[in-house]
Amino acid sequence: TAKRKPLIAGNWKLHNNHLEAIALVQKMAFALNEADFDAADIAVLPPFTALRSVQTLVEGDKLQIAYGAQDISQHDRGAYTGEVSGPMLAKLGCSYVLAGHSERREYHHEDDAVVNAKVRAAFANDITPILCLGEGLEVRRAGRQVEHTLAQLEGALKGVTEEQVRRLVIAYEPVWAIGTGEVATPEDAQEVCAALRGRIGELYSSETAEQVRILYGGSVKSGNVAAIMAKEDVDGALVGGASLKADEFVSLVRAGT
Ligand code: PEP
Repeated sequence: TAKRKPLIAGNWKLHNNHLEAIALVQKMAFALNEADFDAADIAVLPPFTALRSVQTLVEGDKLQIAYGAQDISQHDRGAYTGEVSGPMLAKLGCSYVLAGHSERREYHHEDDAVVNAKVRAAFANDITPILCLGEGLEVRRAGRQVEHTLAQLEGALKGVTEEQVRRLVIAYEPVWAIGTGEVATPEDAQEVCAALRGRIGELYSSETAEQVRILYGGSVKSGNVAAIMAKEDVDGALVGGASLKADEFVSLVRAGT
């Protein structure tokens, strides 16, 4: 993993209003030091309503915490009530946006075509998509996790150029491990992350595949992150629950890097 700087991103989901967000980011910033930022890129993904506050906190300060959104409209503008667009997120200084999180796929019926449109909207607006992929329990039990996740990858990357893919971040998140306390073994994570990198090599080039950061997500904590991130093709973590407490998140960053 020496070639790729690790990324550790906290997905806050539906937690923290803008005032709570300020308090949490301040606590994190106070606890993190230069060595932490040398070791990893560190990002938070708050709800839309907190992005402006986080931007104000981070800009003009030495804080190197990056931030992004949890969703993006596939449209840049228009009659799409309730949506938030790529240009709006770019204007707020977002570096990242999640695309295809399993909770969006499940509760908002986002299929591979929608996820593909969102990945392309992110790239078109110079925001790095964190493309979330992963199998459910049935698929895992049938031993079909690799083929399932590779199919999701191919669906999400239609029309995406090699130049764009070099900046892509992928998060392998087995659905059965998200928010359940059930963590994949380091070997489970490595198996699928390596397969994902291999397929990017086939679709684009091995040089590009070596540059793509592939994270693991699913009940990652300070106590289990080290063994997972030690795996060759795992370049970081997407963290839900354990990103909501500053102390735990900072411990996790240090344990993982
Ligand atoms: C997530 O939402 O991406 C996630 C991995 O959640 P948790 O860490 O809580 O399982």
